[in-house]
Amino acid sequence: MEKKPFITLEQAKDIIEDIPTPFHIYDERGIRENARALYKAFSWNKGYKEYFAVKATPNPFLMKILQEEGCGMDCSSYTELMLCESCGIIGSNIMFSSNVTPAEDMQKAYDLGAIINLDDYTHVEFIKKVCGVPKTICCRYNPGGVFRMADSEDKVQVMDTPGDSKYGMTEEQMEKAFIELKEAGAEEFGIHAFLASNTVSNGYYPELAGILFELAVRLQKKTGVHIKFVNLSGGVGVDYKPEEPKNDIAIIGEGVRKKFEEILVPAGMGDVEIYTELGRYMLAPFGALVATAIHEKHIYKEYIGLDACAANLMRPAMYGSYHHVTVLGKENAPCDHKYDVTGGLCENNDKFAVDRMLPKIDIGDIIYIHDAGAHGFSMGYNYNGKLRSAEVLLREDGSHKLIRRAEEPKDYFATFDFSEFRDLTF
Ligand SMILES: *Cc1c(COP(=O)(O)O)cnc(C)c1O
Repeated sequence: MEKKPFITLEQAKDIIEDIPTPFHIYDERGIRENARALYKAFSWNKGYKEYFAVKATPNPFLMKILQEEGCGMDCSSYTELMLCESCGIIGSNIMFSSNVTPAEDMQKAYDLGAIINLDDYTHVEFIKKVCGVPKTICCRYNPGGVFRMADSEDKVQVMDTPGDSKYGMTEEQMEKAFIELKEAGAEEFGIHAFLASNTVSNGYYPELAGILFELAVRLQKKTGVHIKFVNLSGGVGVDYKPEEPKNDIAIIGEGVRKKFEEILVPAGMGDVEIYTELGRYMLAPFGALVATAIHEKHIYKEYIGLDACAANLMRPAMYGSYHHVTVLGKENAPCDHKYDVTGGLCENNDKFAVDRMLPKIDIGDIIYIHDAGAHGFSMGYNYNGKLRSAEVLLREDGSHKLIRRAEEPKDYFATFDFSEFRDLTF
């Protein structure tokens, strides 16, 4: 499908008068409409709740929007918990799905009344020591082996290899953990698993749901605990490439409902609540990195250099990920030039696009990098002394709001004590 920016060149220019590039921009309308469609797709399940994976885009202004749409938050660290606290998101509106959890983080989650999701069997003893066992508790499952699934053409594909993944517990450990947690006072139980990332298949969630629902029935029978919820976690992906299929959340919700009717309802477990912890699906398409072309270079290849770099969006450099690129104002121009679009890090993998066919780019053109709304800004770093960019919200009424200022040198230097050196003026 054709990928269209959610801002025009005129809108971009208007924003740039206020806030220089590079910046990340988010589309409030898109975020809200998408969240509503998700809730509609799971409306058949009483108690359904999305816990937005904060790590994808940890900005309180965006978290607030999702909170208004009924979402809770999925955290995995102390500072993510603090962000929730600052938004007034507490108690069972927080899912704490962490691993290798420090004691302070566990204590903080407990103090906020979060639903705690234990990553390992040894965490049963750990939580007892640190803060005690809360009434509602969840355990993360890892089925091991290889996770295979039939694609839309019925070809079986390897989706991921849980056997190599550090997360979760075996079924035997889940059973022991549930029994011991019940003895320690837990009353309501949840089951969680995350088996594949960025899936563009309407079959992933239903397949995972089938595995977890069957596990839930076995665990309920063996341990006698009350299973309150099944948490399908994240992993529903987005179409980064224009030719990629797009997930249809209504079909996904319906697929999960079928498994629910097949497996849980006959077992007398029709009261189980479904939770999700989507990050990418909630925000990736509704955020973009906006940059300016500041240099061009003609050697063995053609290069366009931007004022943004991998420190603002790491996915292409880190995973070779595709992010679609639009030259604003040249949406309908022929893509008859082949470019590498790069940032200025002293690292040759700092390329947003390689051998990409684009319209002729002139210095000063505004470059819109799509689908940067999740795992974009948040993976930013300061290599080469590059500073993190601003974040901007495009409101539903078309106005814009700065929701995080760009870093300045004083932020980069904030953790040094310069008293032994020459004073710098910021
Ligand atoms: C990262 C993560 C998510 C979100 O993953 P997406 O791919 O962004 O949907 C959800 N749950 C846990 C535990 C995670 O680590």
